Amino acid sequence: MHTDPITDRILLTARRLGPLPRRVQPFPDERIDSYLNRLDHTNGLRYGTIEHLARTNDHGYLSVLSQLAGLSTDTLIRSMPDLRSSADLAAFPDLQGRVWPKRAHHRTACHLCALQHGARPDVTGDVSIWARHHDLVCYRHRRWIGPRLGSASQFSIGNETAIWAAAKTHRKFVEKHGPLRTSNLYFDALHIIDRWFGWRLELPDAQRLFAKLHAQHEQKRSADIWTAAYYPTTIALLRIMLDLHGARYSPPLAMTLVESARDRVAHDVTAGYHPTGWHDPFLQWLNTQPSPYDESGHTEVLQ
Ligand SMILES: [Zn+2]
Repeated sequence: MHTDPITDRILLTARRLGPLPRRVQPFPDERIDSYLNRLDHTNGLRYGTIEHLARTNDHGYLSVLSQLAGLSTDTLIRSMPDLRSSADLAAFPDLQGRVWPKRAHHRTACHLCALQHGARPDVTGDVSIWARHHDLVCYRHRRWIGPRLGSASQFSIGNETAIWAAAKTHRKFVEKHGPLRTSNLYFDALHIIDRWFGWRLELPDAQRLFAKLHAQHEQKRSADIWTAAYYPTTIALLRIMLDLHGARYSPPLAMTLVESARDRVAHDVTAGYHPTGWHDPFLQWLNTQPSPYDESGHTEVLQ
């Protein structure tokens, strides 16, 4: 009877729980399904084979994965957030501040970083990671990684000072205000700008940056270029929103505060447009009292 030599080796490996023929180092903060996919491919296995072996063995998922991957359980837990829990902090205090997948976001790792890490794009495709909301650039390769999935949406931003300044400011906001409040208000800011975009409101800084980046990366999708072009404008709005956030808990807001907020938005964000009327998304945000839930719950990192 014909037997498949690869299948024979895998069955043997599963019985003995020894390492697979080819090892794959996990990328920092890699998602478990991305890692298993790469481990399957590199060893010539169908997708899901290792997952199946690990799930159906009595020795326990992590233990079996460790033995098949040829890596210690410590290495796997330190590398892959899916395998971490808040309880792991007792065993691995150095995980404090690292990504926690219950609140983190999917990203495609910087394509150039992944290649340097040994990913084989011809076989394995992109490396998928867990990231914090503000992990949007690769400092090493001067690239925009952005919030979208797929390395095709990444591109070089070189020395584009507005984006680098925004990334630095964004990081400082997280340090000062914490990841939870900063990420909540960042997504509020994105939503407001998206609404203004729908109105075709002039946002000259973003539009200038879009034209410049688009000329450099004509083959990239406009939607991906826009995410980078709007970033400095979003951070400028986020600064104002962080300053005003506390006042929203004590309505009604003083008219002088509302007027100065409108002036700041007009000066720093919208090139002269003063948010006006009940339908303006910024004024709607300003006049909405945050729910207690907004300031509770889990953060993007273990703490
Ligand atoms: Zn990189």
